[in-house]
Amino acid sequence: MPIAESYKSIRASIPNNVTLVVAAKTRTKQEIEEVIAAGATDLGYNQVQEAEKMYHMLGDKAAKVRWHMIGPLQKNKVNKALSIFDVIQAVDSYELAEAINKRSSKVMPVYIEVKISEEETKQGIEPENIRQLIQKLSLLSNIRIEGLMAMEPYLEDTELARPYFRRMKELFDELKQLKQPNLDLKVLSMGMSAAYKVAIEEGSSMVRIGTAVFGERKYK
Ligand SMILES: *Cc1c(COP(=O)(O)O)cnc(C)c1O
Repeated sequence: MPIAESYKSIRASIPNNVTLVVAAKTRTKQEIEEVIAAGATDLGYNQVQEAEKMYHMLGDKAAKVRWHMIGPLQKNKVNKALSIFDVIQAVDSYELAEAINKRSSKVMPVYIEVKISEEETKQGIEPENIRQLIQKLSLLSNIRIEGLMAMEPYLEDTELARPYFRRMKELFDELKQLKQPNLDLKVLSMGMSAAYKVAIEEGSSMVRIGTAVFGERKYK
């Protein structure tokens, strides 16, 4: 299916109040231009360098979308990331938050990445440590914690992802009750191509979708 069509059909199939972040890694300038022309509002990148390259290639069109950093961010790339991204989604340590806090010239929206799957490679903070992290972040007045982000394990049977999403929603609802100056939890970012429908049923307010929009990725 052409990109514009698949973007529009996914957009039309999910509720209006769910944000669709187009996960753009490995896609060409032409593919990104097509999806923006089809109405995409939000782009997600895993790597600062790749995002930066696309940002410059898009010229004026770059300003039509919000830019989300959805991958792990190294501290030495924070300055560059701040010049491109509107949201840093994958904050999972005090050190990274502190670097963002120190270098940002404005109050920067961040999401905390929670580790919901047992897979060794997955980033994110363990759910049992998140309260302590959030409390520590209360001292950082130049960031605002606006969401939680999680990556579900890839499972052939997407129903099996449901308990992961459900636990995330419970955690989100609990943490929403906390009162802290720079905490304003609004966004629950979870659900990728395979399981986004299940994620939305379980309370996701932001899905991050690549493959279902563009087709399979070809890694070089
Ligand atoms: C690549 C990626 C996605 C999208 O994955 P698809 O399966 O292609 O939809 C979502 N979130 C993150 C953090 C990613 O790296």
